[in-house]
Amino acid sequence: MNHDRSHALFNRAKALIPGGVNSPVRAFKSVGGEPFFVQRADGAYLYDVDGNRYIDYVGSWGPMITGHNHPKVREAVERAIRDGLSYGAPCAAEVTMAETITRLVPSCEMVRMVNSGTEATLSAIRLARGATGRQRIVKFEGCYHGHGDSFLVKAGSGMLTLGVPTSPGVPAGLSELTATLSYNDFEGATQLFEDIGGEVAAVIIEPVVGNANCLPPREGYLQHLRDLCTRHGALLIFDEVMTGFRVALGGAQALYGVVPDLSTFGKIIGGGMPVGAYGGRRDLMEQIAPAGPIYQAGTLSGNPVAMAAGLAMLDLVSEPGFHDRLSATTVALCEGFVAAAREAGVALTTNAVGAMFGLFFTDSKVDTYAQAVACDTAAFNRFFHAMLERGVYLAPSAFEAGFVSSAHDDAIVDATLAAAREAFAVVVA
Ligand code: PLP
Repeated sequence: MNHDRSHALFNRAKALIPGGVNSPVRAFKSVGGEPFFVQRADGAYLYDVDGNRYIDYVGSWGPMITGHNHPKVREAVERAIRDGLSYGAPCAAEVTMAETITRLVPSCEMVRMVNSGTEATLSAIRLARGATGRQRIVKFEGCYHGHGDSFLVKAGSGMLTLGVPTSPGVPAGLSELTATLSYNDFEGATQLFEDIGGEVAAVIIEPVVGNANCLPPREGYLQHLRDLCTRHGALLIFDEVMTGFRVALGGAQALYGVVPDLSTFGKIIGGGMPVGAYGGRRDLMEQIAPAGPIYQAGTLSGNPVAMAAGLAMLDLVSEPGFHDRLSATTVALCEGFVAAAREAGVALTTNAVGAMFGLFFTDSKVDTYAQAVACDTAAFNRFFHAMLERGVYLAPSAFEAGFVSSAHDDAIVDATLAAAREAFAVVVA
């Protein structure tokens, strides 16, 4: 494959944009090499500026669940832009969006639109702190909730409950308020609540972790967190930025039957436009300005073009059988990967939840962050590049979930698996 134009663009970009990209994971740092620059995207495919075509399992990191450039989403945007790009005043589409989200996700009795997943999670923990009068939050190793200061924290070495910053610029005084637990560790959560339960404003979790590859919750784990939060007066926040409208129409909370106090969303609800949202119990949401004293605002929030894209997307994913079909595709893909790996003598296991999947270069089942980190990342990196060379684009990191869209039909899955058979041979070579 020729990458001359991408290479030239990357050099120009590096001179003016930190690391040459506007979001770090795009830079291919963890897999090595250089990113390709996209010319256009359609259905299950990305086309780069050098004329190469890739089957895409990243889907803009999640939003493109119906494939790229879906005509219904594009037409909704085209209709919306005829009426102007932004009003800074209320519009009808915002009301329809609120009605749609609260209908599809019943735990959200009210909802507030924002412009990204990061804004949604930041706003949700401010609300949790304001509503409970408590300051501590609890998060989980391997979960990502955007780049807000309170989330760029890992467990301190001495006391589990005193977090330390993972990025310069995050105040130590703030990070100490974030405690980090191991995902799927029942006992650790019980112990933490015994120690400091009365100080915890909120527990925030990706109910299926998509930022440490793909880790599903152990049976009863989310309910265990629900019970601890209820008993200790803390709020449970499900960060459904990835899982929302994807693992099931009602998100992970519908799939696992656990009701959070607050939920955060992004990606799919924007249909590819910059959108996020947070919602939850009415008594909590009514404390947000201007209904209540907890401040949160946004010039472009509820933007009419973004709402049009998101509503068109939510219409498409609401079609009967949509998620069943996606799940079947994901399962077929994962079974094919495992069979191809076995043929080549490569140790591989997979996780699949709805339209999310994870590939683990190991021979045992993975459902904790420690297990995910222990997998053979060098093998993944070789596999990633071998697949890219064969026109299949996986997330450029061993710690990101893959996404299947409704544009990934049987022929595309077959083409992916044909590439995988060759790529696994490269992994062992
Ligand atoms: N929460 C989760 C679970 C995410 O996966 C992400 C981004 O990938 C975010 C929050 C942050 O969203 P954004 O990148 O839109 O700020």
